[in-house]
Amino acid sequence: MDLRIKSVSAVLAAATLCSVLLCGCEPEEPFTTSHTVITAPTDATQPDPETLPPISTDEVPGTQTDEPDTVTQEQTEPVTEQQTTTAQTTPEPTTAPEKDPDIPDFTVDLSSYEKYMNPEDRDAYLILVNPSNPVGKDHKPTDLEPLVDTRPDRSKRYMRLYAAKSLEAFLKEARANGCKNVTVTSAYRSYDSQKEIFDGDVKKLMEKGYSEEEAIAIERKDTAFPGESEHQTGLAVDMHNLSSAQPAFADTYEAKWLAENAWKFGFILRYLPDKEEITTYVYEPWHFRYVGRYHAKRIYEMGMCLEEYIEYLANN
Ligand SMILES: [Zn+2]
Repeated sequence: MDLRIKSVSAVLAAATLCSVLLCGCEPEEPFTTSHTVITAPTDATQPDPETLPPISTDEVPGTQTDEPDTVTQEQTEPVTEQQTTTAQTTPEPTTAPEKDPDIPDFTVDLSSYEKYMNPEDRDAYLILVNPSNPVGKDHKPTDLEPLVDTRPDRSKRYMRLYAAKSLEAFLKEARANGCKNVTVTSAYRSYDSQKEIFDGDVKKLMEKGYSEEEAIAIERKDTAFPGESEHQTGLAVDMHNLSSAQPAFADTYEAKWLAENAWKFGFILRYLPDKEEITTYVYEPWHFRYVGRYHAKRIYEMGMCLEEYIEYLANN
């Protein structure tokens, strides 16, 4: 645990700080992003029987070519038919791409996203950021990319390249499976933007009569303290189809589909309902975290939160 956190901190410390992205909760506009369902590629043109090369007798068992003296032109025709049949049926196993058991079945063609969903360096995104493992004020990823599924009424949201591409695949597949209007409301947040959100909420609580200490304690359960948010890593995303992130999202078909299928795209549902004591955060059915498929699948199957999984790795 300690070693991993130290190594994670070392990676994080190497990054630099960038622009501020604010997260608001303005009313949602109708979802307008379209998508294309890509069908599986059709087979290549069947071989022309006329152009097929002759097949040796070894390849066509059962033919009577061991008696060449008695074979007439008429008799050779059925052999050609047999050759054609053989040529049309046997190449199929070699031309069809082999199914990789590690690649899940998808409704749409996501092959171009595979390298992002399942990164070659499978440990590169296993970063733990929480109140016990904060990142520095100056931490900022250097490979941030705009998200195509940012909610239309928001300013552009960003994630690190591999997370951004995997999220694109995630939401393509989600739409193809009946998820409606799920869009990104928040992703990368700088230290300063997190501080702005946190301080604003604390101020509102203090206006209701709480002391500053009380207000900070209450706010910390809902919102990460600046430097303690994994949104600052560029690997976390908030997405849903409500006007603002609310627990009611958990009851929707969309939330259930996203939670069950996230691992296929390298994501985990980060703040689980039965892990609040460990994560220190309430259940957030809209908050997903990219870790890459190898770890996401194991985390999902073992029913762990990221804190438990990293401890499990350290002990095994
Ligand atoms: Zn979040």
